[in-house]
Amino acid sequence: MATCDVCGNSYDAPLLISVQEREEHGVYDSFECAISALAPRCATCSTTVIGHGVQSDGRMYCCAACAARIGDHGHVDRVDAGVPRDPS
Ligand SMILES: [Zn+2]
Ligand SMILES: [Zn+2]
Repeated sequence: MATCDVCGNSYDAPLLISVQEREEHGVYDSFECAISALAPRCATCSTTVIGHGVQSDGRMYCCAACAARIGDHGHVDRVDAGVPRDPS
């Protein structure tokens, strides 16, 4: 049994997650609690960034549009590779 660091639930199959930059690991009863504790927040809209996100000068954004909203226009969410999008 272990106690979740986020919600305090005692759980018999906890997740132990280490982050390379930190010396300690977290104990979580679910991915939901682990994401709540570990995932960064977008610097513009504060949404939880679960995927890769967009990083610039130490800031994390959920998407290129959020980066552009505060003046960082060096990112794109999608690159048009010349592939037709609608086959019909
Ligand atoms: Zn929990
Ligand atoms: Zn955002």
